[in-house]
Amino acid sequence: MELKELTLKKALNLLDEGKLSSKELCTLTLEQIKKYDPLVKAFLYVNEEWVLKQAEEADKKRKEGKRDLLTGIPLSIKDNILIKGHPTTCASKILANYIAPYDATVIERLKSQGVVFIGKTNMDEFAMGSSTENSGFFPTRNPWDLERVPGGSSGGSAVSVALRMGLGSLGSDTGGSIRQPAAFCGVVGMKPTYGLVSRFGLVAFASSLDQIGPFGLTVEDTALLLQAIAGNDPKDSTSAEIEIPNYLEFIENNLNTTFKIGLPKEYYSYDIDPEITKYLEKTIEILKKRHTMVEISLPHTKYAVATYYIIAPAEASSNLARYDGVKYGFRAEAKSLLEMYKKSRGLGFGKEVKRRIMLGTYALSAGYYDAYYLKASKVRTLIKEDFEKAFKEVDLILTPTTPTPPFRLGEKISDPLQMYLSDIFTIPVNLAGLPALSLPVGLTTDNLPVGVQIIGPQFKDELVLALAYQIEKDLSLKFIPPILKD
Ligand code: GLN
Repeated sequence: MELKELTLKKALNLLDEGKLSSKELCTLTLEQIKKYDPLVKAFLYVNEEWVLKQAEEADKKRKEGKRDLLTGIPLSIKDNILIKGHPTTCASKILANYIAPYDATVIERLKSQGVVFIGKTNMDEFAMGSSTENSGFFPTRNPWDLERVPGGSSGGSAVSVALRMGLGSLGSDTGGSIRQPAAFCGVVGMKPTYGLVSRFGLVAFASSLDQIGPFGLTVEDTALLLQAIAGNDPKDSTSAEIEIPNYLEFIENNLNTTFKIGLPKEYYSYDIDPEITKYLEKTIEILKKRHTMVEISLPHTKYAVATYYIIAPAEASSNLARYDGVKYGFRAEAKSLLEMYKKSRGLGFGKEVKRRIMLGTYALSAGYYDAYYLKASKVRTLIKEDFEKAFKEVDLILTPTTPTPPFRLGEKISDPLQMYLSDIFTIPVNLAGLPALSLPVGLTTDNLPVGVQIIGPQFKDELVLALAYQIEKDLSLKFIPPILKD
């Protein structure tokens, strides 16, 4: 059994046919982690005993004829999603010893569907970053080139899938944290519509933007994972009450459906790396054979990054106020209460998190609120309206996922603005609450993955998956990092 070519869907078939047990599959996955994780450092937590116990339970269920959607499938989970009884650190020293007291709703759902949790993955501290270098513990490396970043903040999740250390993963996306690392690592990553997937049990960064979503090796795998986690949850007041379609059936039935696809001129006139442009054009050429491609305009795009960097830090500064050394997490020794607050937060949070808290506190403070937060909220509405207008004309929108291929470790870490700009194509989608997916479409001359982004109208997540599935079939490429080949 080779993990290299094994998708989640294929693994399910093998498990169904009795050709493979979950214990065998999970043992292979653990071996893969032992072999490759020392090179890339994608995991913060792997508990072998727990993994094997879950796998045995899944095998037992199958023997009893109980097969749920994902029975026996090993998945990794970003370390800002709570799994009861196991650590959740958000890659922050302030939560280094925190054990989750309850399950996130997505975890509850995956448990009831028979998933085996293989471990918790590394990330930028509290999901703030685009390279996983802001982890409070260690950076993760890109499996395609160990000197480069895997993207972030869900870098560990993307790498675990790229190296088959788990057959899929859950990450979170506030401004691009699923799609950008997916593009950098040559896997599929999807941010669902805001409200499609419950945020209960996801450690909050910017609550009006955060959304949990899946990583898969293929579009089918991603669709299956979305199926498992989507749906209303009374524990999350922003969770929508909508009918969830059968995503796999939908993409299969729409393999030949033609769409009107918008190409936003503002995205295309941005300074994009020529290798990204090359694959984008190639994708457009393929799409032209079946679909109608039209130029569209999203005129407020140029304000998106600035708007995001007011709204996200403002929400973060309020969400992160709870880490004060009193209720949970790290507590510093101190002589007075005030000193204890200051020292706990001062020692517990990393540099980028502190920067965001200061930015956000400033933007929300009396006298500046109108000039910053209120203004940003208004621009956010304009960005949303740009998309609404566009979707009156087109079914879907195609853009690059990132302006460049994966950059080198250390290249952008000392220049936060450069780092922030790497999310220029993903951030508008979160501000508008829309579904979007990154699909790998090629490799640069340096053998680095390139992704394109498909954006859909609100709650039309299935359309996004359908177009991605068509492109994936047309291209018929496999993305296997060179270190897996030997
Ligand atoms: N890179 C962006 C940030 O630093 C987005 C992060 C995310 O989506 N969690 O905020």
